[in-house]
Amino acid sequence: MKVRPAMIGLGSRRPSRSPRRFASLLLVVGATALGLGLLRAGTAPQIEIESSQPGIGPKSELTIRVEAAGRGLGEVLVELIQDGRRTVLVERSYQARPPWAFWGVRDTIDAIAVKVGRDTLGETLREGSALIRVEARPPGAWLRKGVPATRERAFDVMLRPPALSVLSNQHYPAQGGCEVVVYSVGKTSSRDGVSVADAWFPGFALPGAPAGQRFAFFAVPFDLESADSIRLQTEDAVGNRAEVPFVDRLQLRPYDQKMIKLSTAFMEKVIPEIVANSPSVRESDELLITYLSINRDLRSENADQLSRLAAQSRPEFLWSQPFLGLPNAQVMASFADRRTYVFEGRSVDRQDHLGFDLASVKRAPVPAANRGVVVLAKYFGIYGKAVVIDHGYGLMSLYGHLSTLEVEPGQKVERGELLGRTGETGLAGGDHLHFTMLLQGKAVNPVEWWDDAWIRNRLQAKLGPAFATAAS
Ligand SMILES: [Zn+2]
Repeated sequence: MKVRPAMIGLGSRRPSRSPRRFASLLLVVGATALGLGLLRAGTAPQIEIESSQPGIGPKSELTIRVEAAGRGLGEVLVELIQDGRRTVLVERSYQARPPWAFWGVRDTIDAIAVKVGRDTLGETLREGSALIRVEARPPGAWLRKGVPATRERAFDVMLRPPALSVLSNQHYPAQGGCEVVVYSVGKTSSRDGVSVADAWFPGFALPGAPAGQRFAFFAVPFDLESADSIRLQTEDAVGNRAEVPFVDRLQLRPYDQKMIKLSTAFMEKVIPEIVANSPSVRESDELLITYLSINRDLRSENADQLSRLAAQSRPEFLWSQPFLGLPNAQVMASFADRRTYVFEGRSVDRQDHLGFDLASVKRAPVPAANRGVVVLAKYFGIYGKAVVIDHGYGLMSLYGHLSTLEVEPGQKVERGELLGRTGETGLAGGDHLHFTMLLQGKAVNPVEWWDDAWIRNRLQAKLGPAFATAAS
């Protein structure tokens, strides 16, 4: 019982002390908040200035990344400074926490896309050097401003496209055919060549010529009806672009319309072998559906593979003589025959035959059309067992439906060297060679490349000593 008063005493003293403690605690909290409010400015933000281009051009865009922990971001100012003139590009303010708060909403990170090109800034932007300056100010306190972080990055402003002029003359390409153009381009060019509709034919340094003299082989699709879309182009690293038309005349070539009658026997012959060798083909229960998937999808897959193969072409003339065909052969089908496929009386598909079908005796030896390097020798979709040879500068030759392959990828071959024997692998009804020339992966008419006079008049005359033809 004696303990009790003490306990009561303790108990009774507590309520009398608590208000005082509470008051002093309030005082401490209040003083801290006041101190924070007066002095707790935000932390200095991190700044990055990013650009995908080495300078500023017509359509350039920068990405400004800002990031701040603590109270978050305050204000960001992005300026362009040229010859002492300042142009404000972006001004942005953010939601930050109040100085006394350690919780609540805040913006801590931003990526600002800033358009700095001529298209956006107009005459404000001038050729020469420019400074991009970013100032990121953290949120301030009542008595203290946040110390801003700044970052600057210098850029070259380039607004003039590379100089471009055509040096060769007499450009008379034919539909489905090739041509060459020789030109000179300024040293700021980072990409130049010939654009034809949606295809691109890159230019190369002209061997033995002064720097800046270049040439490009290009091809015209067999169904292009006007030369308007054929342009010599150059572009620099910041997107300044120049282009000139240069084709004197486009020669139109009529193409044959052919009807191919599909028979069940033909489909039963070709489909199992192609399916067994082509993992991407899905076999249907219906013969015609599988056939159409081969004729359309596998055909276009093969075309894509040939385009990718073009990137492996060597930048050198591996050949000097006219291309060879198949000796003693009969032409069964020509370049760009427009085929309509008919099954049981109805039209089921349309495709263009972008090559020559050459028939000789069965299992006839197939010679390399010219000197080059084998880049493909395998079962290749609709072409069956096939060989592709690189002749340099994007020019290749293709040999399809072979029965045997006598060469391997990487192997150098001489003009006339045995590649394999004719056969009927792939989409072939009988023993023959499907032959085509390819420029940057696009099938082109081989007739030109077989023609000694065409090589001399159309190519050699423009390329001069850069191309030493042995054609006579
Ligand atoms: Zn063919």
